[in-house]
Amino acid sequence: MTGSTPQDDRTFVIVGASLTGAKAAETLRAEGFTGRVVLVGEEDDAPYERPPLSKGYLLGSEERDKAFVHERGWYDEQRIELRTGVRAEGLDPAAHVVTLAGGERLGYDKLLLATGSVVRRLGVPGADLDGVHYLRRIGHADTLRDVLTEGARVVVIGGGWIGLEVAAAARTHGASVTLVEVAPLPLQRVLGDELGQVFADLHAEHGVDLRLGTGIREITGRDGHVASVVLGGDGGDGTEVPADAVVVGIGIRPAVELAQAAGLAVDDGVLVDAALRTSDPDVYAAGDVANTDHPLLQRRIRVEHWANALNGGPAAARSMLGQDVVYDRVPYFFSDQYDLGMEYSGHAEPGSYDRVVFRGDPKAREFVAFWLAGGRVLAGMNVNVWDVTDDIQRLIRSGSPVDPDRLADTDVPLAEL
Ligand code: NAP
Repeated sequence: MTGSTPQDDRTFVIVGASLTGAKAAETLRAEGFTGRVVLVGEEDDAPYERPPLSKGYLLGSEERDKAFVHERGWYDEQRIELRTGVRAEGLDPAAHVVTLAGGERLGYDKLLLATGSVVRRLGVPGADLDGVHYLRRIGHADTLRDVLTEGARVVVIGGGWIGLEVAAAARTHGASVTLVEVAPLPLQRVLGDELGQVFADLHAEHGVDLRLGTGIREITGRDGHVASVVLGGDGGDGTEVPADAVVVGIGIRPAVELAQAAGLAVDDGVLVDAALRTSDPDVYAAGDVANTDHPLLQRRIRVEHWANALNGGPAAARSMLGQDVVYDRVPYFFSDQYDLGMEYSGHAEPGSYDRVVFRGDPKAREFVAFWLAGGRVLAGMNVNVWDVTDDIQRLIRSGSPVDPDRLADTDVPLAEL
């Protein structure tokens, strides 16, 4: 007897060298898995976190290196085979084989799909001109740092999180910004009218020219480079907005190709149960690509946010190791725009709630908003108010009705509700 742990002869493959994938690999080792771990990524970079790409790194306040989950050497130390710059092109669940670009066949005992998502592309004439940018990868952020400069005329298409955070960064760098959104308010589909207005006012006050309720007819060019954006389509009147650069943030779609071609159950993402298992017993999915059967929300949900990558990867790893996993985290995300910092917990799309309660003054931008249905808290968002996330998530988890007047009363501690 040497006393050493015998080497596990299994191979666990993770497709997607993302935050989800890196955290899953880290957890496999932390939980004592001694077998082979292969982390395959299409991008050349080691796994990184995306929030800095539209916040600190884009603003110039954070170093590029800080975005990376671990230094490259860490993967070697942990005996995690990090294979970057190689796309997984095929999956044969019956044979337990992933095929990589170039034809290499990688056998696995357990597989995690952490393939994330791909940006939706604008389909109007001129969308392929130089100067039309997207922001999904760290290389995109590198480019945008050179584009969002003092005096540049930037048109942002899409008033979602990317659009608003890019607009804030561009204004902070002294660019002039026009933001075009098809809906009547930014973030309307996520936050509804009440909170969408807060963000519209915020950006208008910081000098963003908001063009709401209008689509794009075309992007015009000069010598192959973007020259202007013509508003049109729904509600647009053909106005031409001069542009040196266009940044498109019109959403993402889950990268399900591998799963779909392999015959796994897919419907707006890879369908997984509460233990993050797909329809194949040896294949798991986590992060943006996973459409999870959420025990707390009692519905299927696909969450496209950082915290879901951070927590979903480790949960999937434990599940792959045979532990009893119930992934029931309250969805959470945060944003920083100018001097507004916010956190959001829960899930309350328009139509699912009957009331919004403000605790504090939305005009002063220091408040907590709660979305209620039948008196129960579905979601809460704290704006420039801190250390309340645990209380908000407890209210969501409890599922018990709350008194809206006490909820709105800043003299009543949230902990007492
Ligand atoms: P998003 O949040 O889904 O927002 C896309 C926005 O573009 C929506 O408001 C959408 O309006 C609008 N839109 C769609 N087609 C349009 C068009 N043709 N012209 C003008 N507007 C159009 O997606 P995103 O901002 O691109 O962000 C990508 C992903 O990254 C999302 O999952 C997002 O949650 C995530 N992200 C998160 C954070 C954060 O948590 N702080 C920061 C950045 C990115 P409709 O809703 O009416 O379709």
